[in-house]
Amino acid sequence: MWDRAALASGAPELCAASALGTSLWSHIGDATTAELYRLILDRVRAGRLVNVPFDGSGPGVLRQMRLHLRPLPGGQVECRSTVVREHWQGTVRSSAPEPVPPLMRLTVCSWCGRMRVETEWRDVEVAVTALQVFTAAGPSVISHGACPACATRLIDDVHRRD
Ligand SMILES: [Zn+2]
Repeated sequence: MWDRAALASGAPELCAASALGTSLWSHIGDATTAELYRLILDRVRAGRLVNVPFDGSGPGVLRQMRLHLRPLPGGQVECRSTVVREHWQGTVRSSAPEPVPPLMRLTVCSWCGRMRVETEWRDVEVAVTALQVFTAAGPSVISHGACPACATRLIDDVHRRD
């Protein structure tokens, strides 16, 4: 459990004071993570309180964290992180290379931003928690699709135009 968490890279810098506003994305290099945060921020700006688990481990320390996001007036988002569990390992071991974790494939609806969890389409903050996206050891990649509700609506729209 902890060994897996240690492999992941979290985004604790997201919660720096400077993270408020548009400078937020400059901290995030990974395109998938950036897109997920963007989807989540859209949800927060729409008025939702969101909190998602993420891995905040660093050299010699394993850290389970939670990111709390809250809408503020003017389209801003308050971003706070809390440490759920922390375990200091002392010296950093650089033993045999870890096995490469599998790539996690995520499917996001291009129209409503919901994400597929097995056969269900869930709100993005629910899905990233259920799929443990930010605490998984491996990288993830997003593909886009249409959830059944949006697909139905799109087909109806096309027929109406005929
Ligand atoms: Zn959809």
